[in-house]
Amino acid sequence: MPINKGAIAAQKLRNEFGIENPDDFSIEELVHARDIILEEKKISNFDGRIVFGKAKTKISINSEIKYSGRRRFTLAHELGHFELHHNMNTHLEDNALTLDYFKNGGQEYEANQFATELLMPSDSFIAYTQGKLFSPKLLRDISEHFQTSITSATFRYLEIGQHPIFLFHCRDKKVIYWKNSDNYYRKVRDITKLQPPEDSVAMEFFNNGTIYIKDESAQEIEKSTWFDTSAYDSNDVYFEYAIVTKDYNTVLSVVWEK
Ligand SMILES: [Zn+2]
Repeated sequence: MPINKGAIAAQKLRNEFGIENPDDFSIEELVHARDIILEEKKISNFDGRIVFGKAKTKISINSEIKYSGRRRFTLAHELGHFELHHNMNTHLEDNALTLDYFKNGGQEYEANQFATELLMPSDSFIAYTQGKLFSPKLLRDISEHFQTSITSATFRYLEIGQHPIFLFHCRDKKVIYWKNSDNYYRKVRDITKLQPPEDSVAMEFFNNGTIYIKDESAQEIEKSTWFDTSAYDSNDVYFEYAIVTKDYNTVLSVVWEK
């Protein structure tokens, strides 16, 4: 694993404030402790924004964010910019496209890693998920338990969860990138920058607006939907859970086998 600058910065901050578990503090408290001005107001097209001033830094959070977990992750992400990047920028703006940066590299990725480690420390995450069967409900339970967005919970699960999964991030009917759990290799069909597969749950959303919820979240698909196969394994049963963010027209598809 490459050195995770974001996670190291989050651990440093935790040590500095003597924080042992994520329930012990609110992100707001940390933001105030850093003497950052925090405002909530309607901002079109952005979840959050940070402006580095000479005297004071200001973080703005969009008051229209519907989910408290997403709001909290955004706030932690902006705080990450402050801890990691305040010497390099004047301002940074973030929308759900920040999702694009769960992939690798750059300041957005580092801020995401920071927020991930701050809200879902690896020890607590492993303790919470150990021995639990993988399911869409587990991902929702994680996001509720750690009070973070379902998307960030899902990426955390991919990194250190027990059950191997694939993630396909799609926006505007295109596959932007995919990621797999360590040591879980399947040959992905040649779809990057192209449309999601016709028989995928992601495509069902883009074509018809279909969103499966609750007990129907895990939809049965075939291995050949997302992966290259040969005659003997193309009908193997796989599952897909499409996490939809309507405002940004994105789908994060989680794919796994039992
Ligand atoms: Zn950012």
